[in-house]
Amino acid sequence: IQNKELQLYYQPQYNVVNNEIVGAEALIRLEDKEMGFIPPATLLELAEETGVIIDIGYWALQSACRRGKIWNESGFENLFVGVNLSVKQFFDLNLVSKIKAVIESTKFDPNYLELEITETALMHDTDRALQIINKLKDIGIKISLDDFGTGYSSLSHLKLFPIDKLKIDQLFISNADLQGRDGIIISSILELCNKLNIEAVAEGVETKESLNFLGKNKCPLAQGYYFSPPLTVEKFEAMIASKDN
Ligand code: C2E
Ligand code: MG
Ligand code: MG
Repeated sequence: IQNKELQLYYQPQYNVVNNEIVGAEALIRLEDKEMGFIPPATLLELAEETGVIIDIGYWALQSACRRGKIWNESGFENLFVGVNLSVKQFFDLNLVSKIKAVIESTKFDPNYLELEITETALMHDTDRALQIINKLKDIGIKISLDDFGTGYSSLSHLKLFPIDKLKIDQLFISNADLQGRDGIIISSILELCNKLNIEAVAEGVETKESLNFLGKNKCPLAQGYYFSPPLTVEKFEAMIASKDN
């Protein structure tokens, strides 16, 4: 952080029906002078072990909100920004006050901030998790449940927690057998989301075939290499600017 070596890349999220970019997920990148790009999984695992994940998490939040504010003010007023939260950060006692401070200092409209959490964060202490989520939602922040389908995939989580979005894990989508069991699982999750008023996002959309399948099964949102990989700020801005014209 001090050497300014961390970067956020942004991967666009698309409306499946009209193919418009609705927002972007911020994804962390570290480029080392000698080792090149460090895979995020390696970086995050180490950061989690040493505890610096908390500092990295707030750096990412601050940086993404600053960027979101710039975008919202430069003609992309409805673009949301998604930020991943680690479990440790989710349970940081100062989470809510720190997020409020970030929102105050960046002046980013919290209605356009989405926090992505995994079910692991909801498992350990359901009551506390619910309290935290309610406080975040009171500020106007949206909650997105990441990687759904690989972990606990608990229906009681969908019942208990007021989540806004559910991201179907790429395991069911990239390289998936859409005519077989994967397809049945995806369409069932989509039906459940539509009925529960939770916006579904398909992650890891890599082919036209997957996109067609998602469209047919009323999946509102999608993200993946078929549309775009995560991009530098400059490339992401060029992309939204060209779409706008
Ligand atoms: P995630 O939140 O589920 O992010 C989606 C991952 O899928 C990203 O990997 C993205 O580059 C990748 N991806 C996107 N489209 C496709 C596709 O079409 N096919 C395939 N095979 N992969 C695709 P990435 O950037 O390596 O990040 C990995 C994980 O690291 C993220 O998973 C997230 O859990 C975590 N992460 C990334 N940035 C942050 C951060 O700032 N804070 C925290 N706490 N975690 C982060
Ligand atoms: Mg995510
Ligand atoms: Mg995910």
